[in-house]
Amino acid sequence: MKIIQHPRMRDIVIGDEVYSYEHRLFARVEEVFPAAVCVKVAFLSFRQRVEMLIAPQLWRADDIENLSVCRYCGGREQLATTAQTGIPLRVCERCGMVPPEQYMHELGSRQ
Ligand SMILES: [Zn+2]
Repeated sequence: MKIIQHPRMRDIVIGDEVYSYEHRLFARVEEVFPAAVCVKVAFLSFRQRVEMLIAPQLWRADDIENLSVCRYCGGREQLATTAQTGIPLRVCERCGMVPPEQYMHELGSRQ
């Protein structure tokens, strides 16, 4: 069986910050697989005493957004954070100057 790499996985490297739409959590990538990443998620346990536990999880490429690269071109240079959505998506200087196509459609539809 041939393993096909998910297109989103091309730009992800170990140490990148990713956001999971499914879990609504941020985490750092520990390991990269063809269609998923392994992350370590910290959570509090109240079983005997309050403890902070770190658990590894597999997140599917379809459910995550890589916050360490530009969301339009995948670049890592001169990134700025956009805060409109509550998720700190990164956009590089070059892509930030040219409004993305979707945004232009929204502007056009109001006229
Ligand atoms: Zn860009």
